[in-house]
Amino acid sequence: LSERIDKEADKPCESEDGCRINLQVNAGLSAEIETAVRSGKVGIGLYRTEIPFMMRERFPSESEQVELYRNVLLSAPDREIVMRTLDVGGDKPLPYFPITEENPFLGWRGIRLTLDHPEIFLVQIRAMLRASIGLQNLSIMLPMISSVGEVNEARRLVEQAFFEVEEEARLQGERLYRPRLGIMLEVPSVLYQLPQLAKKVDFFSVGSNDLTQYLLAVDRNNTRVASLYNSYHPAVLSALYDIAKQADQYQVPVSVCGEIAGEPGGAILLMGMGYRKLSMNAFNLRKINWVVRNVNLSEAQSLLSCALTSDSYEEVFNHINQYLEVKG
Ligand code: PEP
Ligand code: MG
Repeated sequence: LSERIDKEADKPCESEDGCRINLQVNAGLSAEIETAVRSGKVGIGLYRTEIPFMMRERFPSESEQVELYRNVLLSAPDREIVMRTLDVGGDKPLPYFPITEENPFLGWRGIRLTLDHPEIFLVQIRAMLRASIGLQNLSIMLPMISSVGEVNEARRLVEQAFFEVEEEARLQGERLYRPRLGIMLEVPSVLYQLPQLAKKVDFFSVGSNDLTQYLLAVDRNNTRVASLYNSYHPAVLSALYDIAKQADQYQVPVSVCGEIAGEPGGAILLMGMGYRKLSMNAFNLRKINWVVRNVNLSEAQSLLSCALTSDSYEEVFNHINQYLEVKG
């Protein structure tokens, strides 16, 4: 099977009945970018900017960040590159910016931290924009959004940075394109604010890893409760389905960039829900490309209805396994 998967890896990612699925990669280390993206066939649906920050001994300067981001944007100039602003705190500590909290996952993380430190946020946004001068493939994504106010505040800072860098570009005789601005859907409160959020952003991307953690109240890294943490819990699947329907209703492009998008059963369920853009670790790309080409949409939809009415993730897994066995 793995030979067949490799042989057919270059075929367009389309289901048996012709439904096109756009696959992208999650990246953060430059090696991940090298292998997957330089082929020119995929974009980056999630560039985790905190990873280069975590590998240093101090905050990278604006010009160091410009160089870093420029390389990433140039790795696939014709493809969308979604750069997520710094998502530290929680499970992602910065060695040179210690945070001590009793509940780090409910604490100072992601957008909360950078809005409290606008100088960190502005330097990063300016660096992304400066890196994008002359290019048109930059999208900026905000992590851990839990309310509309955070989007307003972040957007105001992005605008400020845009005008500063636009002026700089103009002096150089270059053009600065306006980046698309999107948010991660990973805190459950935003599920109930999608109509308002839809008016404020250009795209949504579902962070199913954190959404699972917060919906189920299960720490994603605590081994004692690891058996409770599962993105195939019927409640999580219902939330994902609800997001897909609302994004369609409000006409906001939506993708999924959590782990579930890179798993065969997960990708099929997401297709059934209506997702047409999936971002995953580079090593899952070929497998998911193959899976998509071997299912059709009505099968994916009936698998989804079985999953949504299941009592547990174990039952969902049984349905998925039965389906995958029939498919060989
Ligand atoms: C997520 O939460 O699903 C996600 C993609 O972001 P991270 O795993 O980096 O928190
Ligand atoms: Mg997350």
